[in-house]
Amino acid sequence: MPSNKSNSIKIYNSLTGKKELFKTITKGYVGMYVCGPTVYSNVHLGNLRTFISFDTIYRYLNHIGMKIRYIRNITDVGHMVNDSTEDRISEKARIEKIAPMEVVQKYTNDFHDTLKKFNLIPPSIEPTAQGHIIEQIELIKTMIGKKLAYEKNGSVYFDVIEYNNSNEYGILSKRNIEDLIHNTRKLDGQSDKKNPQDFALWKKAESQHIMKWHSPWSLGFPGWHLECTAMSSKYLGEKFDIHGGGMDLKFPHHECEIAQANACFNTNPANYWVHANMLTLNGSKMSKSTGNSVLPKEIISGDNKLLSKAFSPSVIRFFMMQAHYRSILDLSNDALVASEKGYNKLMDAIDNLDNIKVSNKTEFNVKNWISNCYKAMNDDFNTPILIAQIFDIVKFINLVKAEKAKIKASDLKDIKTKLNEFVFDVLGLEKNKSNTSNDKIKSVIEILIELRDKARNDKNFKLSDKIRDDLKNAGIILNDSNGKTDFTIN
Ligand code: AMP
Ligand code: ZN
Repeated sequence: MPSNKSNSIKIYNSLTGKKELFKTITKGYVGMYVCGPTVYSNVHLGNLRTFISFDTIYRYLNHIGMKIRYIRNITDVGHMVNDSTEDRISEKARIEKIAPMEVVQKYTNDFHDTLKKFNLIPPSIEPTAQGHIIEQIELIKTMIGKKLAYEKNGSVYFDVIEYNNSNEYGILSKRNIEDLIHNTRKLDGQSDKKNPQDFALWKKAESQHIMKWHSPWSLGFPGWHLECTAMSSKYLGEKFDIHGGGMDLKFPHHECEIAQANACFNTNPANYWVHANMLTLNGSKMSKSTGNSVLPKEIISGDNKLLSKAFSPSVIRFFMMQAHYRSILDLSNDALVASEKGYNKLMDAIDNLDNIKVSNKTEFNVKNWISNCYKAMNDDFNTPILIAQIFDIVKFINLVKAEKAKIKASDLKDIKTKLNEFVFDVLGLEKNKSNTSNDKIKSVIEILIELRDKARNDKNFKLSDKIRDDLKNAGIILNDSNGKTDFTIN
């Protein structure tokens, strides 16, 4: 019974710099495109944050009954690293001594496995850049036809200055073309570009380049920005509702996507440009290329020197949800420990809902609480405010459990329904007690080790051996060394 439905959602639009009322092109339907990963290495926790941010938006829009076509692409065409002659995927193929397509497959699998562990809902369509080379070539032909792109030595570039004569290059990132020209180095005469701001739509491949395709201009490969224009227009149309990605994609990637769409279709492709902020580590952006990153599997296993212990995917997701998607979030062990406490408290309260005594009145404004939860999410998907609301109800549930407050059966039912919907369907948390129960098992084993030590000190070897053997039968192996006992669980 969501009371505040889609007609009151506000979304912060990077294009206008304002929170705007969310009005979809077709009532009840949403077209959403989110830039996916470049599959040349394991997805890190920063990438994951961006995908979780959009998963939550997707989940909420679903929850309020909207029909969403959600497209998230896979960038499986290698793109050049600055001035290098080798693209990222080929470079990885050389280092790992495998074929580029093996690199693509390996890291696409990793991406899918990781997202599944963190309970992300797969998009409606997950197109790949390689699967849309023909569409990209067609777009380039259109841009050349409109004299907004030019060919030089087998490569094709977008003519930013020509485009800017009748459009506004920099509209999203609020960059001014004159400043851009002023601040960039003059071309050294080696480049095929007319201006340094021009960007590649098609690149002629060097002979050693492995991933290349035929085109009217050369055997080569498409520029990075083009794939998203090709795939978003193919699956969502020339104009759709939401275009998302990490903040770092605003410029040049999204700015170039806008220019390409204006050039091809005379329209900015999306009504709402949504950007998720960065996850930082030690105050700097988490990034694959600089090595300042933590892998999701290291957090789940606890195998990283930053961490004192392992954390479950739901705890990490809860940690991320405690920050608004547009705020920077810094990863630290202390923050994760605090999130784990909060998550456990929440799961305990949800469990307690099944063992609550009802009475004939309710000492809490349940309707108001439900409305506040929707208000939080309708206000630019404000998950930290939603979590604050959730903890208000947790506090109340705990009071009722302690018989210090009262609740009616009908209100208890409403609380149960809404709490489950917000916690599991919208925030995407899972009742994943494995970590907590693991911690509990570990505490029980510690107690048994203590009892075994006491039996040995008392020379009651029958008992001490029994404890060791029974634990072994249960798959728990005790290891004695240097007067101390630790254990492994098989
Ligand atoms: P990439 O595979 O590098 O194209 O990145 C995939 C997505 O992750 C993009 O939307 C990036 O903006 C986003 N991203 C990269 N680094 C971070 C970070 N440290 N925090 C949040 N999102 C990030
Ligand atoms: Zn993109």
